[in-house]
Amino acid sequence: MTLLIKNGTIVTATDQYRGDVFIDGETISTIGMSLTMPADRIIDATGKYLFPGGIDVHTHLDMPFGGTTSSDDFETGTIAAAFGGTTTVVDFAIQYRGQTLHHAWETWMKKAEGKAAIDYGFHMIITELNDQVEQEMDALVGQGVTSFKLFMAYPGVFMLDDASIFKALLRTGKNGGTICMHAENGGVIDVLVKKALAEGKTAPKYHALTRPARAEAEATHRAIALAEMAGVPIYIVHLSAAEALEMVTEARDRGLPAYAETCPQYLFLSYDNYEEPGFDGAKYVMSPPLRARETQDRLWRGLAFNDLQAISTDHCPFCMKEQKVLGEGDFSKIPNGAPGIETRMSLVYDGGVRSGKISLNRFVELTSTSPAKIFGLFPRQGTIAPGSDADIGVCDPEKKLRLGVKTLHMRVDYNPYEGREVTGATDTVVSRGKIVVDAGKFTGKAGAGSFLKRSTRQL
Ligand SMILES: [Zn+2]
Repeated sequence: MTLLIKNGTIVTATDQYRGDVFIDGETISTIGMSLTMPADRIIDATGKYLFPGGIDVHTHLDMPFGGTTSSDDFETGTIAAAFGGTTTVVDFAIQYRGQTLHHAWETWMKKAEGKAAIDYGFHMIITELNDQVEQEMDALVGQGVTSFKLFMAYPGVFMLDDASIFKALLRTGKNGGTICMHAENGGVIDVLVKKALAEGKTAPKYHALTRPARAEAEATHRAIALAEMAGVPIYIVHLSAAEALEMVTEARDRGLPAYAETCPQYLFLSYDNYEEPGFDGAKYVMSPPLRARETQDRLWRGLAFNDLQAISTDHCPFCMKEQKVLGEGDFSKIPNGAPGIETRMSLVYDGGVRSGKISLNRFVELTSTSPAKIFGLFPRQGTIAPGSDADIGVCDPEKKLRLGVKTLHMRVDYNPYEGREVTGATDTVVSRGKIVVDAGKFTGKAGAGSFLKRSTRQL
Protein backbone atom coordinates (compact mmCIF):
# COMPACT_ATOMS: atom_id res chain seq x y z
CA MET A 1 0.00 0.00 0.00
CA THR A 2 1.37 3.39 -1.00
CA LEU A 3 -0.05 6.71 0.05
CA LEU A 4 0.74 10.23 -1.11
CA ILE A 5 -0.30 13.20 1.04
CA LYS A 6 -0.08 16.33 -1.08
CA ASN A 7 0.09 20.09 -0.42
CA GLY A 8 0.03 19.96 3.37
CA THR A 9 2.09 22.06 5.76
CA ILE A 10 4.47 19.67 7.47
CA VAL A 11 5.15 20.60 11.08
CA THR A 12 7.75 19.00 13.33
CA ALA A 13 9.31 20.13 16.62
CA THR A 14 11.71 22.31 14.59
CA ASP A 15 10.34 22.84 11.07
CA GLN A 16 7.30 24.09 9.21
CA TYR A 17 7.12 23.91 5.40
CA ARG A 18 4.86 23.06 2.49
CA GLY A 19 5.49 19.65 1.00
CA ASP A 20 4.28 16.23 -0.06
CA VAL A 21 4.78 13.02 1.90
CA PHE A 22 5.06 9.67 0.15
CA ILE A 23 4.41 6.62 2.30
CA ASP A 24 5.44 3.15 1.20
CA GLY A 25 4.13 0.41 3.47
CA GLU A 26 4.53 1.28 7.12
CA THR A 27 7.11 4.04 6.87
CA ILE A 28 7.63 7.45 5.32
CA SER A 29 9.67 7.03 2.16
CA THR A 30 10.06 10.46 0.58
CA ILE A 31 9.33 14.08 1.45
CA GLY A 32 9.56 16.71 -1.27
CA MET A 33 7.95 19.36 -3.43
CA SER A 34 5.41 18.30 -6.09
CA LEU A 35 6.03 14.57 -5.78
CA THR A 36 4.61 12.69 -8.77
CA MET A 37 5.08 9.01 -7.96
CA PRO A 38 1.98 6.87 -8.43
CA ALA A 39 0.21 5.90 -5.21
CA ASP A 40 -2.70 3.64 -4.24
CA ARG A 41 -4.30 6.62 -2.57
CA ILE A 42 -3.74 10.38 -2.76
CA ILE A 43 -4.88 12.69 0.02
CA ASP A 44 -5.10 16.41 -0.70
CA ALA A 45 -4.06 18.27 2.45
CA THR A 46 -4.28 21.81 1.07
CA GLY A 47 -4.75 24.24 3.94
CA LYS A 48 -4.03 21.57 6.51
CA TYR A 49 -1.21 20.74 8.90
CA LEU A 50 0.54 17.39 8.93
CA PHE A 51 1.56 16.62 12.50
CA PRO A 52 3.54 13.60 13.69
CA GLY A 53 1.02 11.20 15.24
CA GLY A 54 0.30 12.14 18.84
CA ILE A 55 1.99 10.09 21.53
CA ASP A 56 0.07 9.80 24.79
CA VAL A 57 2.41 8.33 27.40
CA HIS A 58 -0.13 8.17 30.23
CA THR A 59 -3.31 6.13 29.73
CA HIS A 60 -5.21 3.61 31.86
CA LEU A 61 -7.28 1.39 29.58
CA ASP A 62 -9.15 -1.57 31.05
CA MET A 63 -7.71 -0.80 34.49
CA PRO A 64 -9.18 -2.18 37.71
CA PHE A 65 -9.55 0.53 40.37
CA GLY A 66 -11.60 0.73 43.55
CA GLY A 67 -13.83 -2.25 42.79
CA THR A 68 -14.56 -1.31 39.17
CA THR A 69 -12.67 -1.05 35.85
CA SER A 70 -11.96 1.98 33.66
CA SER A 71 -14.72 2.07 31.06
CA ASP A 72 -12.57 2.20 27.91
CA ASP A 73 -10.74 -0.97 26.96
CA PHE A 74 -7.91 -1.20 24.43
CA GLU A 75 -10.36 -1.24 21.54
CA THR A 76 -12.67 1.66 22.40
CA GLY A 77 -9.86 3.68 23.98
CA THR A 78 -7.42 3.42 21.08
CA ILE A 79 -10.14 4.15 18.51
CA ALA A 80 -11.03 7.30 20.45
CA ALA A 81 -7.32 8.17 20.62
CA ALA A 82 -7.05 7.83 16.83
CA PHE A 83 -10.01 10.16 16.30
CA GLY A 84 -8.10 12.72 18.36
CA GLY A 85 -4.90 12.43 16.30
CA THR A 86 -3.01 10.13 18.67
CA THR A 87 -1.31 7.11 17.10
CA THR A 88 0.61 5.70 20.07
CA VAL A 89 -0.31 5.15 23.69
CA VAL A 90 1.91 4.01 26.52
CA ASP A 91 -0.33 2.41 29.12
CA PHE A 92 0.45 1.01 32.57
CA ALA A 93 0.71 -2.65 33.53
CA ILE A 94 0.27 -3.19 37.26
CA GLN A 95 2.26 -5.57 39.44
CA TYR A 96 0.03 -6.40 42.39
CA ARG A 97 1.72 -7.39 45.62
CA GLY A 98 2.88 -11.00 45.64
CA GLN A 99 3.01 -11.09 41.82
CA THR A 100 5.94 -10.95 39.43
CA LEU A 101 6.47 -8.13 36.94
CA HIS A 102 6.37 -10.71 34.20
CA HIS A 103 2.90 -11.83 35.20
CA ALA A 104 1.72 -8.21 35.10
CA TRP A 105 3.24 -7.67 31.66
CA GLU A 106 1.60 -10.79 30.23
CA THR A 107 -1.75 -9.81 31.74
CA TRP A 108 -1.68 -6.39 30.11
CA MET A 109 -0.35 -7.71 26.79
CA LYS A 110 -3.44 -9.93 26.67
CA LYS A 111 -5.71 -6.98 27.37
CA ALA A 112 -4.28 -5.16 24.32
CA GLU A 113 -3.77 -8.00 21.83
CA GLY A 114 -6.46 -8.23 19.19
CA LYS A 115 -8.01 -5.01 20.45
CA ALA A 116 -5.66 -2.04 20.08
CA ALA A 117 -6.25 -0.12 16.85
CA ILE A 118 -3.02 1.89 17.18
CA ASP A 119 0.45 1.04 18.51
CA TYR A 120 1.01 0.70 22.22
CA GLY A 121 3.70 0.23 24.80
CA PHE A 122 3.70 -0.30 28.54
CA HIS A 123 5.20 1.23 31.63
CA MET A 124 5.39 -1.19 34.56
CA ILE A 125 3.88 -0.15 37.89
CA ILE A 126 5.90 -1.65 40.74
CA THR A 127 4.09 -2.00 44.06
CA GLU A 128 6.55 -4.33 45.78
CA LEU A 129 10.31 -4.44 45.36
CA ASN A 130 12.68 -7.27 46.24
CA ASP A 131 15.81 -8.82 44.69
CA GLN A 132 13.83 -10.89 42.24
CA VAL A 133 11.77 -7.88 41.12
CA GLU A 134 14.97 -5.88 40.61
CA GLN A 135 16.29 -8.58 38.30
CA GLU A 136 12.98 -8.62 36.48
CA MET A 137 13.34 -4.88 35.90
CA ASP A 138 16.55 -5.55 33.95
CA ALA A 139 14.83 -8.26 31.90
CA LEU A 140 11.87 -6.03 31.08
CA VAL A 141 14.13 -3.22 29.88
CA GLY A 142 15.59 -5.76 27.43
CA GLN A 143 12.09 -6.63 26.25
CA GLY A 144 11.10 -3.05 25.53
CA VAL A 145 9.34 -2.12 28.75
CA THR A 146 11.87 0.54 29.65
CA SER A 147 10.02 2.65 32.22
CA PHE A 148 8.60 1.98 35.66
CA LYS A 149 6.01 3.87 37.61
CA LEU A 150 6.18 4.15 41.36
CA PHE A 151 3.67 5.67 43.77
CA MET A 152 4.28 7.90 46.76
CA ALA A 153 0.50 7.88 47.36
CA TYR A 154 -2.23 5.25 48.05
CA PRO A 155 -0.70 3.60 51.16
CA GLY A 156 -1.49 -0.09 51.44
CA VAL A 157 -2.32 -0.34 47.73
CA PHE A 158 0.32 1.18 45.45
CA MET A 159 2.61 3.20 47.73
CA LEU A 160 6.30 2.31 48.00
CA ASP A 161 8.52 3.42 50.89
CA ASP A 162 11.52 5.68 50.27
CA ALA A 163 14.02 2.82 50.58
CA SER A 164 12.29 0.83 47.83
CA ILE A 165 11.99 3.93 45.65
CA PHE A 166 15.68 4.63 46.14
CA LYS A 167 16.63 1.03 45.27
CA ALA A 168 14.52 1.14 42.09
CA LEU A 169 16.14 4.44 41.10
CA LEU A 170 19.62 2.98 41.65
CA ARG A 171 18.69 0.01 39.49
CA THR A 172 17.75 2.25 36.56
CA GLY A 173 21.25 3.72 36.79
CA LYS A 174 22.46 0.27 35.73
CA ASN A 175 19.74 -0.91 33.34
CA GLY A 176 18.94 2.41 31.62
CA GLY A 177 15.25 2.38 32.57
CA THR A 178 13.35 5.48 33.60
CA ILE A 179 11.39 5.94 36.83
CA CYS A 180 8.05 7.75 36.51
CA MET A 181 6.69 9.02 39.79
CA HIS A 182 3.19 9.65 41.09
CA ALA A 183 4.26 12.35 43.52
CA GLU A 184 1.80 13.01 46.34
CA ASN A 185 2.43 12.46 50.05
CA GLY A 186 0.11 9.49 50.62
CA GLY A 187 0.50 9.42 54.40
CA VAL A 188 -0.61 13.01 54.86
CA ILE A 189 -3.51 12.59 52.44
CA ASP A 190 -4.72 9.47 54.24
CA VAL A 191 -4.88 11.33 57.55
CA LEU A 192 -6.73 14.27 55.97
CA VAL A 193 -9.24 11.96 54.24
CA LYS A 194 -10.06 10.10 57.48
CA LYS A 195 -10.40 13.39 59.36
CA ALA A 196 -12.76 14.84 56.74
CA LEU A 197 -14.96 11.74 56.70
CA ALA A 198 -15.09 11.71 60.52
CA GLU A 199 -16.35 15.31 60.35
CA GLY A 200 -19.10 14.28 57.94
CA LYS A 201 -17.48 15.97 54.94
CA THR A 202 -18.42 13.50 52.21
CA ALA A 203 -19.09 15.57 49.04
CA PRO A 204 -16.84 15.20 45.95
CA LYS A 205 -15.07 18.53 46.59
CA TYR A 206 -13.43 17.05 49.70
CA HIS A 207 -11.42 14.82 47.40
CA ALA A 208 -9.59 17.99 46.35
CA LEU A 209 -9.57 19.60 49.77
CA THR A 210 -7.83 16.57 51.31
CA ARG A 211 -5.06 16.52 48.68
CA PRO A 212 -3.27 19.85 49.19
CA ALA A 213 -0.88 21.26 46.59
CA ARG A 214 1.87 21.15 49.23
CA ALA A 215 1.46 17.36 49.50
CA GLU A 216 2.26 17.16 45.78
CA ALA A 217 5.14 19.65 46.08
CA GLU A 218 6.67 17.80 49.04
CA ALA A 219 6.59 14.46 47.22
CA THR A 220 7.90 16.02 44.00
CA HIS A 221 10.80 17.52 45.92
CA ARG A 222 11.50 14.19 47.69
CA ALA A 223 11.31 12.22 44.44
CA ILE A 224 13.81 14.54 42.78
CA ALA A 225 16.11 14.44 45.82
CA LEU A 226 16.05 10.62 45.83
CA ALA A 227 16.88 10.59 42.11
CA GLU A 228 19.67 13.11 42.68
CA MET A 229 21.20 10.88 45.38
CA ALA A 230 20.87 7.87 43.07
CA GLY A 231 22.45 9.86 40.22
CA VAL A 232 19.65 9.16 37.73
CA PRO A 233 16.97 11.12 35.83
CA ILE A 234 13.37 11.17 37.04
CA TYR A 235 10.04 11.86 35.33
CA ILE A 236 7.13 13.25 37.37
CA VAL A 237 3.74 12.20 36.01
CA HIS A 238 0.60 14.36 35.89
CA LEU A 239 2.07 17.42 37.58
CA SER A 240 -0.82 19.66 38.61
CA ALA A 241 0.30 22.17 41.24
CA ALA A 242 2.31 25.36 40.78
CA GLU A 243 4.12 24.48 44.04
CA ALA A 244 5.24 21.16 42.51
CA LEU A 245 6.34 22.88 39.30
CA GLU A 246 8.56 25.16 41.41
CA MET A 247 10.37 22.06 42.67
CA VAL A 248 10.98 20.79 39.15
CA THR A 249 12.11 24.24 37.97
CA GLU A 250 14.49 24.64 40.90
CA ALA A 251 15.99 21.20 40.22
CA ARG A 252 16.43 21.89 36.50
CA ASP A 253 18.05 25.24 37.28
CA ARG A 254 20.60 23.26 39.30
CA GLY A 255 21.25 21.13 36.23
CA LEU A 256 19.43 18.00 37.40
CA PRO A 257 17.74 15.73 34.83
CA ALA A 258 14.25 16.20 36.30
CA TYR A 259 11.37 15.95 33.82
CA ALA A 260 7.63 16.33 34.19
CA GLU A 261 4.40 16.10 32.26
CA THR A 262 1.11 17.86 32.85
CA CYS A 263 -2.34 17.06 31.45
CA PRO A 264 -5.06 19.10 29.66
CA GLN A 265 -7.41 18.87 32.66
CA TYR A 266 -4.94 20.92 34.73
CA LEU A 267 -4.69 23.50 31.92
CA PHE A 268 -8.41 23.90 31.19
CA LEU A 269 -10.33 22.92 34.35
CA SER A 270 -9.97 24.04 37.96
CA TYR A 271 -11.11 23.52 41.55
CA ASP A 272 -14.28 25.46 40.68
CA ASN A 273 -15.57 22.38 38.85
CA TYR A 274 -15.86 20.53 42.18
CA GLU A 275 -18.40 23.15 43.26
CA GLU A 276 -20.83 22.15 40.49
CA PRO A 277 -24.28 21.22 41.87
CA GLY A 278 -25.25 17.85 43.31
CA PHE A 279 -22.86 14.99 42.69
CA ASP A 280 -21.46 16.52 39.45
CA GLY A 281 -18.14 17.30 41.14
CA ALA A 282 -17.45 13.55 40.94
CA LYS A 283 -16.83 13.96 37.19
CA TYR A 284 -13.55 15.67 38.08
CA VAL A 285 -12.39 13.37 40.88
CA MET A 286 -8.87 12.41 39.85
CA SER A 287 -5.47 12.39 41.54
CA PRO A 288 -3.86 14.83 41.81
CA PRO A 289 -7.04 16.94 41.89
CA LEU A 290 -7.82 20.02 39.83
CA ARG A 291 -6.17 23.10 41.31
CA ALA A 292 -6.95 26.81 41.71
CA ARG A 293 -7.66 28.57 38.42
CA GLU A 294 -4.50 30.73 38.74
CA THR A 295 -2.41 27.56 38.44
CA GLN A 296 -3.25 27.28 34.73
CA ASP A 297 -1.05 30.24 33.74
CA ARG A 298 1.85 28.89 35.74
CA LEU A 299 1.60 25.51 33.98
CA TRP A 300 1.46 27.15 30.54
CA ARG A 301 4.58 29.11 31.42
CA GLY A 302 6.26 25.86 32.49
CA LEU A 303 5.33 24.31 29.13
CA ALA A 304 6.58 27.32 27.17
CA PHE A 305 9.92 27.47 28.99
CA ASN A 306 10.55 23.71 29.05
CA ASP A 307 10.22 23.16 32.79
CA LEU A 308 7.42 20.80 31.68
CA GLN A 309 8.34 18.56 28.74
CA ALA A 310 5.19 16.68 27.83
CA ILE A 311 1.40 16.75 27.81
CA SER A 312 -0.26 13.39 28.39
CA THR A 313 -3.84 12.63 29.41
CA ASP A 314 -3.96 10.22 32.39
CA HIS A 315 -7.06 8.98 30.52
CA CYS A 316 -8.92 6.85 33.06
CA PRO A 317 -12.67 7.11 32.42
CA PHE A 318 -15.42 5.96 34.76
CA CYS A 319 -19.11 6.42 33.98
CA MET A 320 -21.20 8.56 36.33
CA LYS A 321 -23.82 5.80 36.25
CA GLU A 322 -22.76 2.70 38.19
CA GLN A 323 -19.11 3.78 38.63
CA LYS A 324 -18.60 7.33 39.97
CA VAL A 325 -21.80 6.80 41.94
CA LEU A 326 -19.97 4.25 44.12
CA GLY A 327 -18.73 7.29 46.02
CA GLU A 328 -22.05 8.97 46.63
CA GLY A 329 -21.95 9.67 50.35
CA ASP A 330 -18.19 9.05 50.61
CA PHE A 331 -15.85 10.95 48.28
CA SER A 332 -13.01 8.52 49.05
CA LYS A 333 -14.91 5.78 47.22
CA ILE A 334 -15.34 7.72 43.96
CA PRO A 335 -13.19 5.96 41.32
CA ASN A 336 -10.30 8.32 40.47
CA GLY A 337 -10.00 9.38 36.86
CA ALA A 338 -11.55 11.14 33.87
CA PRO A 339 -11.69 10.74 30.08
CA GLY A 340 -9.24 12.69 27.88
CA ILE A 341 -7.51 10.43 25.34
CA GLU A 342 -9.47 11.91 22.41
CA THR A 343 -9.46 15.62 23.31
CA ARG A 344 -5.77 16.24 24.11
CA MET A 345 -4.55 17.49 20.72
CA SER A 346 -7.55 19.71 19.98
CA LEU A 347 -7.64 21.28 23.43
CA VAL A 348 -3.92 22.05 23.43
CA TYR A 349 -3.96 23.30 19.84
CA ASP A 350 -6.96 25.54 20.47
CA GLY A 351 -6.07 26.70 23.97
CA GLY A 352 -2.28 26.73 23.52
CA VAL A 353 -1.33 27.50 19.92
CA ARG A 354 -4.32 29.56 18.82
CA SER A 355 -4.28 31.59 22.00
CA GLY A 356 -0.56 32.29 21.56
CA LYS A 357 0.68 30.53 24.70
CA ILE A 358 2.92 28.09 22.84
CA SER A 359 4.23 27.89 19.28
CA LEU A 360 3.12 25.38 16.67
CA ASN A 361 6.52 23.64 16.91
CA ARG A 362 6.28 23.50 20.69
CA PHE A 363 2.82 21.94 20.36
CA VAL A 364 4.32 19.10 18.30
CA GLU A 365 7.22 18.76 20.72
CA LEU A 366 4.94 18.49 23.79
CA THR A 367 2.42 16.09 22.29
CA SER A 368 4.74 13.85 20.28
CA THR A 369 8.48 14.50 19.91
CA SER A 370 9.50 14.99 23.50
CA PRO A 371 7.49 12.01 24.88
CA ALA A 372 9.04 9.92 22.07
CA LYS A 373 12.54 10.94 23.13
CA ILE A 374 11.96 10.51 26.86
CA PHE A 375 10.41 7.06 26.44
CA GLY A 376 12.67 5.54 23.78
CA LEU A 377 10.49 5.83 20.66
CA PHE A 378 12.44 8.50 18.76
CA PRO A 379 13.22 8.80 15.83
CA ARG A 380 11.04 5.90 14.80
CA GLN A 381 8.17 8.00 16.16
CA GLY A 382 7.70 11.62 17.20
CA THR A 383 8.61 13.27 13.91
CA ILE A 384 7.88 13.31 10.17
CA ALA A 385 11.02 12.11 8.42
CA PRO A 386 12.08 9.54 5.81
CA GLY A 387 12.41 6.17 7.55
CA SER A 388 10.13 7.05 10.45
CA ASP A 389 6.84 5.24 11.05
CA ALA A 390 4.10 6.69 8.86
CA ASP A 391 2.12 8.06 11.83
CA ILE A 392 0.55 11.32 10.72
CA GLY A 393 -2.39 13.43 11.78
CA VAL A 394 -3.93 15.68 9.12
CA CYS A 395 -5.31 18.62 11.06
CA ASP A 396 -7.69 21.24 9.74
CA PRO A 397 -6.76 24.35 11.74
CA GLU A 398 -10.12 26.01 11.02
CA LYS A 399 -12.38 23.06 11.74
CA LYS A 400 -14.65 23.67 14.72
CA LEU A 401 -15.55 20.85 17.06
CA ARG A 402 -18.04 20.99 19.91
CA LEU A 403 -16.71 18.65 22.60
CA GLY A 404 -19.25 16.38 24.23
CA VAL A 405 -20.48 12.84 24.68
CA LYS A 406 -22.39 13.00 21.36
CA THR A 407 -19.47 14.16 19.19
CA LEU A 408 -16.70 12.09 20.81
CA HIS A 409 -15.98 8.35 20.84
CA MET A 410 -14.79 7.51 24.34
CA ARG A 411 -16.93 4.88 26.11
CA VAL A 412 -18.09 7.01 29.01
CA ASP A 413 -21.37 8.76 29.81
CA TYR A 414 -20.09 12.30 30.38
CA ASN A 415 -17.36 14.63 29.19
CA PRO A 416 -15.53 17.09 31.46
CA TYR A 417 -15.51 19.66 28.62
CA GLU A 418 -19.14 19.16 27.57
CA GLY A 419 -20.23 22.00 25.27
CA ARG A 420 -16.81 23.60 24.89
CA GLU A 421 -16.01 24.57 21.28
CA VAL A 422 -12.48 24.14 19.97
CA THR A 423 -11.05 25.27 16.64
CA GLY A 424 -8.53 22.94 15.04
CA ALA A 425 -9.26 19.25 14.72
CA THR A 426 -7.76 16.19 13.09
CA ASP A 427 -9.84 14.80 10.24
CA THR A 428 -7.58 12.13 8.78
CA VAL A 429 -5.11 9.94 10.65
CA VAL A 430 -2.47 7.56 9.33
CA SER A 431 -1.10 4.90 11.66
CA ARG A 432 1.94 2.95 10.38
CA GLY A 433 0.91 3.63 6.80
CA LYS A 434 -2.77 2.73 7.17
CA ILE A 435 -5.54 5.29 7.16
CA VAL A 436 -7.33 4.70 10.45
CA VAL A 437 -9.49 7.81 10.40
CA ASP A 438 -10.61 8.95 6.95
CA ALA A 439 -12.29 12.35 6.80
CA GLY A 440 -13.83 11.81 10.23
CA LYS A 441 -14.73 8.11 9.83
CA PHE A 442 -12.95 5.23 11.56
CA THR A 443 -11.44 2.97 8.89
CA GLY A 444 -8.91 1.13 11.05
CA LYS A 445 -9.20 -2.25 12.65
CA ALA A 446 -9.22 -3.44 16.24
CA GLY A 447 -6.08 -5.50 16.73
CA ALA A 448 -4.08 -3.71 14.02
CA GLY A 449 -1.92 -1.96 16.60
CA SER A 450 1.39 -3.53 17.61
CA PHE A 451 3.30 -3.70 20.85
CA LEU A 452 6.19 -1.23 20.69
CA LYS A 453 9.48 -2.49 22.01
CA ARG A 454 10.93 0.75 23.31
CA SER A 455 14.60 1.54 23.66
CA THR A 456 16.05 3.16 26.76
CA ARG A 457 15.77 6.88 27.40
CA GLN A 458 17.40 9.39 25.09
CA LEU A 459 17.75 12.08 27.73
ZN1 LIG B 1 -2.33 7.74 35.95
